[in-house]
Amino acid sequence: MTSSLATVAYIGATILFILSLGGLSNQETARRGNLYGMVGMALAVLATVFGPQVTAAGIPWIVGALVVGGAIGLYAARSVQMTQMPELVALMHSMVGMAAVLVGYATYVDPEATKGFEGAAHAIHAMEIYIGIFIGAVTFSGSIAAFGKLSGRIGGSPLLLPARHWLNLAGLLAVVYFGRMFLQAESIEAGLFPLFMMSAIALLFGIHMVMAIGGADMPVVVSMLNSYSGWAAAATGFMLSNDLLIVTGALVGSSGAILSYIMCNAMNRSFISVIAGGFGTTAAAPKPAGGAAEPVGEVNPILAAETAELLRDAKNVIVVPGYGMAVAQAQHTVFEITKHLREKGVNVRFGIHPVAGRMPGHMNVLLAEARVPYDIVFEMDELNDDFPDTDVAIVIGANDIVNPAAQDDPTSPIAGMPVLEVWKARTSIVMKRSMASGYAGVDNPLFYKDNNRMLFGDAKKMLDEVLTALKA
Ligand code: NDP
Repeated sequence: MTSSLATVAYIGATILFILSLGGLSNQETARRGNLYGMVGMALAVLATVFGPQVTAAGIPWIVGALVVGGAIGLYAARSVQMTQMPELVALMHSMVGMAAVLVGYATYVDPEATKGFEGAAHAIHAMEIYIGIFIGAVTFSGSIAAFGKLSGRIGGSPLLLPARHWLNLAGLLAVVYFGRMFLQAESIEAGLFPLFMMSAIALLFGIHMVMAIGGADMPVVVSMLNSYSGWAAAATGFMLSNDLLIVTGALVGSSGAILSYIMCNAMNRSFISVIAGGFGTTAAAPKPAGGAAEPVGEVNPILAAETAELLRDAKNVIVVPGYGMAVAQAQHTVFEITKHLREKGVNVRFGIHPVAGRMPGHMNVLLAEARVPYDIVFEMDELNDDFPDTDVAIVIGANDIVNPAAQDDPTSPIAGMPVLEVWKARTSIVMKRSMASGYAGVDNPLFYKDNNRMLFGDAKKMLDEVLTALKA
């Protein structure tokens, strides 16, 4: 393939990636967006493999790597449970980071790769390598720590080292110091020492940054690492002088940054404090006994048949799905119930919290899979004012996102996070298996409210019983 044909293919792929991102911004066009992305990626891979930068001798290596990588990817995609998706995404981000580190080292030690770079161009290329490896290493270790947290292998509470901000600052200064040493290195061998030192600091920094962030704030970390993986890919593009990788990385990096910003707003956190790391730290603050949101009283259990009765008599129902719906895979039964109620003239709507579940858009994906019509799925802000006019608010495996302590208890680790105000409905029904807390590990005073009922059990099993009772 000639170089100009490869450039045309790259421009085509870039346009398809932009169309893909545009498509993904809306549920109705998301499928098309995915398709654009897949076609764009196929085009990009073909143009790269058969492009001018690859010699014939390299093609068997690339095909071999594609087969191995493709098989692993196919296996992972087929075997992963929907609830494990966030962990898988974190692992994939870590691989982008690792790729940036490996490409950085390979580019640095390969004399061919730096041929023709003299003076300022050489310094700029060296800086690209240094920064690329730094971003890649932070993304790699940060994503591994996020994987550990999301999969429950590492505890969710924030790790607060003494003087951690000073530690971060000292690390940053050391990175700058080694960067200077790296740029001044006379030979490749001399440059390797500062590169290793910086890599070690970056790996520790990535772990430290994610470990310092508390449970309920993890969504922001996930989207931030998404953004970092984009910048790591862009840095790889600079190192390889590959325009498409630069553009694609920048697209992922900036869209991830926008998503982080949206997540920050959803959590009522400031973007700057996220970037500085170490937030959500109030989880460590002692809670004064008898605080405003301390749970009081007993819970009122309800049976599936009684739930069906309440739903049958209702005019307005709001369904609030959470992580437990994903665990139980209850979305199809939820839709069956919704269909049944709508046929009987009940106004059923869904309220989606931006951080419900374990990844951005988790609930929307599940509801779309179950074919719930998009026009009855609303974002939190769109229907939070409607709860006082709602007869029944049914909470399916959600906990933190409906916790009134976020509003009432300034000492709560989730204080200030906007929540769905289900307790303002005439009756709220919480469906979960026990009194266990959610991801943030905090108690939920909603369970003890007079107008709240607890439907204990697996969400799928309970909803099946509700559906049977409704149809009876
Ligand atoms: P939560 O984790 O707060 O609560 C989920 C509840 O589901 C649990 O209390 C659990 O209670 C219940 N549950 C689990 N399995 C089942 C089942 N089979 N049937 C019925 N119930 C079940 O989830 P939310 O969606 O309310 O909130 C999301 C939390 O996750 C927030 O704290 C958010 O910050 C965090 N997070 C979100 C991410 C994102 O990007 N969206 C990423 C990382 C973290 P029980 O065990 O008693 O059944």
